[in-house]
Amino acid sequence: KSSWLARLKTGLSRTGQSLTTLFVGVKVDEDLFEELETALIMADTGVDAAQSLLKGLRERVRQERIEDGDRVRQVLRELLAEHLRPLERRFDLDRPAPIVTMIAGVNGAGKTTSIGKLARTFQQQDRRVLLAAGDTFRAAAREQLVEWGRRNDVTVIAQEGGDPAAVAFDAVKSGQARGMGVVMVDTAGRLPTQLHLMEEVKKIKRVIAKADASAPHEVLLVIDGNTGQNALAQIKAFDQALGLTGLIVTKLDGTAKGGILAAVAAGAQGVRPVPVYWIGVGEGIDDLQPFVADEFAGALLG
Ligand code: GDP
Repeated sequence: KSSWLARLKTGLSRTGQSLTTLFVGVKVDEDLFEELETALIMADTGVDAAQSLLKGLRERVRQERIEDGDRVRQVLRELLAEHLRPLERRFDLDRPAPIVTMIAGVNGAGKTTSIGKLARTFQQQDRRVLLAAGDTFRAAAREQLVEWGRRNDVTVIAQEGGDPAAVAFDAVKSGQARGMGVVMVDTAGRLPTQLHLMEEVKKIKRVIAKADASAPHEVLLVIDGNTGQNALAQIKAFDQALGLTGLIVTKLDGTAKGGILAAVAAGAQGVRPVPVYWIGVGEGIDDLQPFVADEFAGALLG
């Protein structure tokens, strides 16, 4: 556990560096507050979250007559953790099976990697996993997934050139018949047009509901933590199309933009504060960790 936290910390410290060094031996005054606000905005928290955090910080500093820079850092860390806490959400495995989980995200976000990590996490908790390969266009991607499934004891439903919605339908039916714990439906990340992409994922969702009226039970969006403010636009678009139940935020082991979660929590740019189930902190199979606000704030602010 300590190793991935260290990696998260190293990753986030690309901004955190400037953040944590700001506190060393400083005079606690308006200059410091302004520097902190700028540093938070640079970390992509957005202006609203930065201002609201600094407002809280100024109040605490005044009330508690804080004069020590290091104490200011601790208070800001507490305030950030409080701000992020509403985003914490645990994926509940104790529900009627199969739990049908649709996974969306643009290409390169870390969808395939995250699905692999999730399959393993669920298996470790004694759930059998079935995967529907939504990308029916790219043969290589499909074959890779099937091969990966074979090695990891995960059933993969794939179909050459077929309709992704039909593949999803089959997967849900098959998951029911075979007593699977979790059915994960992967969706394609790149299509000729963005509009087309949204129409396709909406169709997949509709067709899943035909296989099981209560499904999908979860609709997760994978976003690359390096994307910065554009992540907000992605969340908005997919939420509008699908009604997201949660986020997976990847690549937080190497980003200067970890503040984006603060922007999500603040509902920046009209985004709904969609909860964060997991964060990706590396390329390895174990590098998907539950999102814990305290740990995250600690990694960012020491
Ligand atoms: P997809 O196109 O959305 O399926 O994206 P992939 O799962 O293929 O991931 C794209 C690249 O990002 C690959 O090189 C992954 O190894 C890498 N990646 C995914 N998640 C993480 C993460 O949490 N940290 C790091 N450092 N790399 C990641």
